[in-house]
Amino acid sequence: MLKLTNIRKLLGLFISILFFSSSVYAEERRLLIDAHIHYSHDAWDMLPPKVAIKVLRDAGLKNAFVSSSSDKGTQLLYNEAPDLIVPVLRPYRKRGELSTWFLDESVIEMIEGRLSKYTFAGIGEFHIFGEDANVPVMKRVVALAKEYGIFLHAHSDAEAVENIFRQNPEAMVLWAHSGFEGPGKISEMLAKYPNLRADLAFRNEHADSGKVDEAWRKLFLAFPNRIMIGTDTYTPERWYYVIDHANWTRNWLRDLPSEVADKIAYKNAQKLADWALKK
Ligand SMILES: [Zn+2]
Repeated sequence: MLKLTNIRKLLGLFISILFFSSSVYAEERRLLIDAHIHYSHDAWDMLPPKVAIKVLRDAGLKNAFVSSSSDKGTQLLYNEAPDLIVPVLRPYRKRGELSTWFLDESVIEMIEGRLSKYTFAGIGEFHIFGEDANVPVMKRVVALAKEYGIFLHAHSDAEAVENIFRQNPEAMVLWAHSGFEGPGKISEMLAKYPNLRADLAFRNEHADSGKVDEAWRKLFLAFPNRIMIGTDTYTPERWYYVIDHANWTRNWLRDLPSEVADKIAYKNAQKLADWALKK
């Protein structure tokens, strides 16, 4: 639950964002695509679509991959800024379904209905771990992603990712938070699965004060085409960090060779979105 003082702080922040001129950011900023944004029901009142879009634009994002509980949040943002939003279909209707959704067969009907009606680049971000990736609902999700030629945004451990690829070796999987694994394990997984992509959402151990950690640098240089960045606005308060996170990201990206930095910054995400949206 949000405390009243937090709500006031957030409101103050969003009002100042709304009136803050974008020209302040006129200097050259590296393009970014944030691959991990949610706009779920508890953010809608506090942060109306126009304000949310302004936050994303002020962060200097070329695009944002957005998935929301419920999907209405994603559609609200997409209608407001179709050039900016890459819609991803979250299988949750409201907060709190992340540990039960895969046992609820009615989720399938909802996903099938939305997929036939709207455009999506992926299904996710969903939470699935270990053997649960082999339950019927999850299997149907993997099959639907194949049928529509879209990616799966999986907040999963390595075992669940392996189970997904066992069901469809050609699946395109964006590994949310890179599974919260270390660079060694991420590297092993990327080497094993050519269609695996990894986002760095809600992680900060790869860089400090604009310097990239050596083990992570090795990973970024070994797999420059497979990694992307993200904020993860899983609660309304996280929207506060979107701009800061973009700036923090630009700072450490400068510590990498410029072509690698651009790939991680936006080109890899762009390629994934273009593939899924058949551009
Ligand atoms: Zn998330």
